[in-house]
Amino acid sequence: HAKDAGRNGYAFFAPSMNSDMQAQLGLLGDLRHAVERDQLVLHYQPKFVASADDTPRLAGAEALLRWQHPEQGLLAPATFIALAERSGLIVGIGEWVIDRACAQLHAWQRAGRTDLTMAVNLSPAQFAAPSLPHHVAAALARHAIAPGTLTLEITESMAMRNVEASLAMLDALVALGVRISIDDFGTGYSSLLYLKRLPATELKIDRGFVRDLRRAGEDAAIVTSILALARALELDVVAEGVETREQRQQLVDLGCTYLQGYLLGRPMPADAFADSAGIATKAAAEPLPA
Ligand code: C2E
Ligand code: MG
Ligand code: MG
Ligand code: MG
Repeated sequence: HAKDAGRNGYAFFAPSMNSDMQAQLGLLGDLRHAVERDQLVLHYQPKFVASADDTPRLAGAEALLRWQHPEQGLLAPATFIALAERSGLIVGIGEWVIDRACAQLHAWQRAGRTDLTMAVNLSPAQFAAPSLPHHVAAALARHAIAPGTLTLEITESMAMRNVEASLAMLDALVALGVRISIDDFGTGYSSLLYLKRLPATELKIDRGFVRDLRRAGEDAAIVTSILALARALELDVVAEGVETREQRQQLVDLGCTYLQGYLLGRPMPADAFADSAGIATKAAAEPLPA
């Protein structure tokens, strides 16, 4: 009820409500129907084995959510993920994302690219939901995915929020055989001791450090120390947001394992991804043999 939800006695429809709040409320109403009306879409950004080569080896894709809004066009996650999170809608949306990403991975693997992996981002509410391992296991089984080819990305700050609960959840996920990646790494405050306990296989260096990379600069020192840390913990390192050849060269020199960024490939619809990766989509669209 508006009465319950209103703060300080102001109902949602109060004239004093600012236009930004009204817009958010309108968006929330639309978001409630987005899944059933089939308006959510996944784009896929390629992830490459780190190399200064212009034809690097494709390692896999990261699924990135978009919302094809009937009036507002294609919306990026920044415009609706927080809303989905606050309203609890993210759990259902997140389930949809995992299911669709697994279906897509299966299609590409069936088309011959059994080497490809898929990464899916988790939100804090999803990561806190006890049903998550069950949903992940169900999606893996439904689409016949080898668990090791699915990576779940959680941010460093999510992992830090409630350490014991995070470790328990991560253990349950790792028991399924999926991989864990720590996204936006460097922006949180993980202690080394805690990081050592995380059953992750990969760190993703936050785009902010990559953007400001300069030889001998402060960010280069940060990236260098993240890589040293990762080596000590035997973790792969993905650099995200690689936009220039100079950044790519520097990240390769520093020893990153994988690269992602506009220089190498933007997030794109599944068909465009398959085209750019030379995956025969026709074969992927054929039904499973009986
Ligand atoms: P993220 O997981 O760190 O994803 C990387 C973001 O950086 C993506 O933005 C991607 O499009 C963008 N990006 C990649 N390469 C470059 C580059 O070279 N330059 C620049 N400027 N940007 C680059 P996007 O798709 O808007 O997603 C933003 C965030 O939304 C993601 O950050 C992730 O935290 C969240 N997100 C995306 N999809 C999902 C989802 O399915 N579920 C949840 N819970 N969160 C999602
Ligand atoms: Mg990510
Ligand atoms: Mg990231
Ligand atoms: Mg990020």
